[in-house]
Amino acid sequence: MLDSRLRSFRVGLARSLRLRVLLLVLAAFVAVAIPAALSFNWLVNSTIVKLGTLFAEKQVLYDRSRGLEALMREVALAETLSRSPAILAWTADENDPEKRARGIAEMEHFRLAFRDRSYFLAIGGSGNYYFNDAKNSFAGSQLRYALEADNPRDGWYYKTAALGAGCQLNVDNDDNLKVTKVWINCVIREDGRTLGILGTGIDLTSFIQEVVNTHQAGVDTMFVDRFGAVQAVRDASKIDFHSLTKEAGNKKTVFQLVDSDADRASLAEMLRNVSERDGKVEARFVEVGGHRMLVGVGYLDRLGWYNVTFMDVDQIIDRGLFVPIGLLLALVMVAAAGLITLLFKRVVLDRLERAEAALAEVEAGNFTAKVDDGGKDEIGRLANALTRMAASVRDNTATLEAAVEERTEQLRRIAYLDPMTGILNRRGFAEAFAPRAAECAKRGVRLGLLLLDVDRFKSINDARGHSIGDTVIREVAQRLTVVVRKQDICARWGGDEFVVLVSDCSADTLADLSARILDTLRAQPVTVPDGTKLRITTSIGGHLLGSEEDLDAAAHKADLALYAAKRAGRNRTVMYDAAAHGAGGASRVA
Ligand code: GH3
Ligand code: MG
Repeated sequence: MLDSRLRSFRVGLARSLRLRVLLLVLAAFVAVAIPAALSFNWLVNSTIVKLGTLFAEKQVLYDRSRGLEALMREVALAETLSRSPAILAWTADENDPEKRARGIAEMEHFRLAFRDRSYFLAIGGSGNYYFNDAKNSFAGSQLRYALEADNPRDGWYYKTAALGAGCQLNVDNDDNLKVTKVWINCVIREDGRTLGILGTGIDLTSFIQEVVNTHQAGVDTMFVDRFGAVQAVRDASKIDFHSLTKEAGNKKTVFQLVDSDADRASLAEMLRNVSERDGKVEARFVEVGGHRMLVGVGYLDRLGWYNVTFMDVDQIIDRGLFVPIGLLLALVMVAAAGLITLLFKRVVLDRLERAEAALAEVEAGNFTAKVDDGGKDEIGRLANALTRMAASVRDNTATLEAAVEERTEQLRRIAYLDPMTGILNRRGFAEAFAPRAAECAKRGVRLGLLLLDVDRFKSINDARGHSIGDTVIREVAQRLTVVVRKQDICARWGGDEFVVLVSDCSADTLADLSARILDTLRAQPVTVPDGTKLRITTSIGGHLLGSEEDLDAAAHKADLALYAAKRAGRNRTVMYDAAAHGAGGASRVA
C-alpha cells in the first residue's frame, strides 16, 4: 500500500518533471521567440526603410540628372556662344556689316546645335532684339524689334543684365500650351561692360512628363517650385497653374498633400536642407491620406525646382521576400527547442527513469538490480550510489536472513529439545511422531511405543540432592540414545520419564528393544560427580500401535502398561494388553 503510493508519487514526480521541463522549454522558446520576432520585424522594417531611402535618393538623383543633363548642355552652348569673338566683336560694333554678317553666321551656326533650334540676341547699345527659330522663319530678317525699358514684356532683359556675368535661367510654365519652357539668358560682357544678352529656350515638357508619368507602382513623382507649388505631377488636378500671379494662400502646394502640420514642417525643412547644399537628397516618412509614405526630396538648382517623390515602401518592397528568412528563423528556433528537449530527455529524464526503474526493482526485492548509467556526472554518481545501495541492502538482507535462520534454529531447539539431556522433549517428540507415523503407514509397517520411568527416583533426589538426580537423568538419556536403533526416536517425556517411538515394529521387536533398554540401564551403575556409583532400574510400559492410532491414545495405553509394571514390582516391561488392562491387569514381558 505504502509502496504503491510511493511509486505513484515518484511516477507523478517524473511526469510532472517532464511536463515542467516541457513548459520551461516552451516558456524559454516564447521568451526568445518574442524578442526574436520583434527584432526580426524591426530588422525588416529598418531594411525596408533603408532600401526605401536609398531608392528615394537614387530616384531623385536620377530624375535630377535626367532633367539637368539636357539643360546643362544648352547652357554650355549658349555660354560658349556668348563668349564667341564674332559675337563680342559684333555686339561691340553692331552696325559694322562685316561683323554683323559674321555674328549672324555664328548664331545661325549655334542655332543648329541648340536643341530648340532657336536663338535670341538683345544688344544693349541699340536694344535690338534678334531671333530665329527651328523653321528658320526669320532668315535674313533676324532683327525682330527693339527692347523698351518701360515695357513689362522686356523687363527680363534689364533684370538679367543687372545680375552681371554668367547665364541665368528663366522658367516659363505655360499652362495654356501645356508647355514648360526654360529660357537660358547669357550676359555678353567685355572689359566689365555688358554688351547684350543672348540665349536659347529649351522645352522641358517631355522630360517632365516622362519623369512624372513613370508608372512605377507605389511611386509618385512631382516637381514643385520654391514655394512648394506643384508644377508638374501625373494627376493634373494637383498642378498649381498661374503660380506666379497667385497669392501664396491660394496655391496648390505639396504641403497640402501631407496630413499633419508636423509633416508639413518636416517637408519644408527638407526643401530648405536640399536647396542649401548642391546635389543633396533627403528622405523621410510622412503621413499621406492616413498612409505612411516615404518622401524623397532633391533640388534642381538650375530650375529652382524641387523634385519630390512620394513612395509607398510596402508596394515597392515586397515584405513577402522576408517570409522565407522569417520561416527559417522560426524553424531554427523550433529545431533548437526540440533539440534541447530531446537532449534533456536523454541526458536527464531517461537516465532518471532508468534509475527509478532499478529502484522499483530493489523495492520489489530484486537486490541484484543495477542502474546501467556509466555517466560521471551527478546522475551517474546517483546511479552508482543506487547500485551500491542495492548491493549493500542485498548483503545486509543475506546477513539478516542468516541471523534469523540461526535464531529460528535456536528457538526450535529450545522449543523441541530438552535442555538438560539434549534429546527431544515432549513437544519435539509429538512433532516427530506424525511424519514418522505417516511414513510407516505408507510402508505398511507398525509403530511401537515404550514409556520408561526411573524406579524410586525421588529417593535419589532426596538422598543425594537434585544435582545428582540430574546426572542420573542425563545418564539415562545418554544410554537410551545408544541402545535404540537409528530409526527409533527417543525423548524425555517429563521428570524421570522417557519415551521411545519404535519404527518397523512388531511385538517381538518391541519386547526385544525394551529388554535391551532395561539391561543397559541396570547393568552398569551410574557414576555421579563425587565418584560414587548408583545402581538404577527402570520400568517400561510398551504398546504396539494399531493403524491410525494417535500419540495421545498410544501414550495413554503405554502409561497404563507402565503403571502396571510399577505395580508389578518395577524393573520390568509390561506390554499393554487391552483385555488385561481393561480388567485392571497387564501382561509381563521381562
Ligand atoms: P516410582 O518408582 O514409583 O517411579 O517412584 P519415584 O520416586 O521415582 O516416583 P516418581 O517417578 O513419581 O517421582 C519422580 C520424581 O522425580 C519427582 C520429582 O521430584 C523428581 N524429578 C522430576 N524432574 C526432576 C529433575 O529434573 N531433576 C531431579 N533431580 N529430579 C526430578
Ligand atoms: Mg520414577
